[in-house]
Amino acid sequence: MSEGYNAQSGADFTIILFFYVGRNEPAVSRLITNSLTTSYNHPMTSRERSFRLEAVVLRHLDWGEADRMLTLFTAEQGKVRAVAKGVRKMRSRKAGHLEPFTRVNLLLARGRDMLLITQAETVDAFLALRDDLLRTTQALYVIELLDRFTYEEGENHALYRLLVETLSRLAQADFNSDLVLRYYEIRLLDLVGFRPQLFRCLNCEEEIIAQDQYFSAERGGVLCPRCGRIVLEARPVTIDTLRYLRHFQRSNWSEASRAPLPTPLNRELEILMQYYLTYLLERGLNTPTFLRRIRRDWS
Ligand SMILES: [Zn+2]
Repeated sequence: MSEGYNAQSGADFTIILFFYVGRNEPAVSRLITNSLTTSYNHPMTSRERSFRLEAVVLRHLDWGEADRMLTLFTAEQGKVRAVAKGVRKMRSRKAGHLEPFTRVNLLLARGRDMLLITQAETVDAFLALRDDLLRTTQALYVIELLDRFTYEEGENHALYRLLVETLSRLAQADFNSDLVLRYYEIRLLDLVGFRPQLFRCLNCEEEIIAQDQYFSAERGGVLCPRCGRIVLEARPVTIDTLRYLRHFQRSNWSEASRAPLPTPLNRELEILMQYYLTYLLERGLNTPTFLRRIRRDWS
């Protein structure tokens, strides 16, 4: 934990605390601890209320004078909010442990009405994503999507694994980052309960055959050409796009990543997914607009 962010070191008492605690003089350290409680709500006084969690930082918000409220995603508890005390006072790079899409190991303590982060250690900062504006924005899209589809509903190991794997894939230059995102969208929809129906018409239940079809966000999947024409909100979808979606839905990453994804096809998939996701979330996402702008300005 030597490299980690430590809540105690955020205060001006750093040197005194380290000195006394380091010398293991309990009476003195308790005295100092008590003197900090008013401004600090010192979390380490009762060890049994502390626990460790691995998390990915989704976002943070300035909180009070010097603190930050973090929204985290964890395997064990789903979405969790916790306060990092004094983090904005620190000039050091330690605050970087708590930046969006960093994977961290946390020591948390239950405060009176909220969780407090007492220590943070980076597991993976995904540095390759931070040097490149396009990949940074793609990573922000990954966490925005997860954030928008989840509430504090508890344990979700599969979703946590998908999140971490997706960020790792984005950080690897040899993967097509568009393909990483399209695969992520389909898997995420599965895990949050909005798996689109791609094999039978949602109106007449006929099996979908190899020809251009329609997609209805409202009904959550594909409609045959006959039914699609009479459903107002349904959009045409080409058979190539549909093939991709089906392939992603049925495949693991090693199979899915082998498929080449030409730019025009990616565009079509992206537009279709944005239509479906926006419908499900009842309003647009922030990052896709920014992503499109970067791509346009850079190409
Ligand atoms: Zn039909």
